Amino acid sequence: MSRYYECLPHFVAIMENYEPAMHMKCKSAAEYRIWKKKARKKLYSLLGLDRMTWCEPEPELLSSEKMDGYTREKWTIKTEPDVLMTFYRLVPDGIADGEKRPAVIASHGHGSCGKEAVAGNGFFPELAEAIRVHNYDYGVQAVRKGTIVFCPDARGFGERREINVQGDHAGARLSSSCYYLNFMALPLGQCVTGMWVWDLMRLTDYIEAQPDVNPGKIGCIGLSGGGLQTLYFTAMEDRIAYAACSGYFYGFKQSLLEMYNCSCNYIPPHVGEFRRR
Ligand SMILES: [Zn+2]
Repeated sequence: MSRYYECLPHFVAIMENYEPAMHMKCKSAAEYRIWKKKARKKLYSLLGLDRMTWCEPEPELLSSEKMDGYTREKWTIKTEPDVLMTFYRLVPDGIADGEKRPAVIASHGHGSCGKEAVAGNGFFPELAEAIRVHNYDYGVQAVRKGTIVFCPDARGFGERREINVQGDHAGARLSSSCYYLNFMALPLGQCVTGMWVWDLMRLTDYIEAQPDVNPGKIGCIGLSGGGLQTLYFTAMEDRIAYAACSGYFYGFKQSLLEMYNCSCNYIPPHVGEFRRR
């Protein structure tokens, strides 16, 4: 073929001719508070959070391993009635009886085998290389500073991969089913970013109840897709005292029209309409 009749210029023109309807243009703290309330309400609906189902977390400890300077525990909690979230809890050595430590949620991006890269668990060569190249073990770096660290698998990653990318070869382990989950979720009024935000909210419920955590000092950090999770989660959540969003803070134009990023990088403006029975 000597020519391709692409749609990209059409989408670029749309982006250039429109601006976000809820652009933040506040000039005072009071205006900002009003804007924030409206923007959160809208985002809550667009993320599909009003279509999620709360349930008791029923935490379960699956394993506990002594590491160099900390203990790595693997847990599950229920975040919806049929949804289990796997995560590591990294606990620094030397916590005294009754002492409360700051905590941080360390979320991961693509190519991480879910929580494993963040927890520094490079158990096959390709993952060890990804940890080295991207400085991906920020969960371990945080626990070595004395913080209790929670490294969750986001839905579609690591031990939460769907059937399309399950398997133990390196390509499958480093892959994810976020786009596949989005296809399943969108017609049902949900999206993958919303599911991630919901799960991090439920993880925060769990963290706040931990006897060794200072509930006023819970943070959230993440690289790339972990930065995406950090951004949307902390935009919706007042219980997080600090956030570090790395390698993600860009707009939809750069993300979707210039970089061809994964479908988990957008929030759909309209989602399927469903009423609860
Ligand atoms: Zn994705």
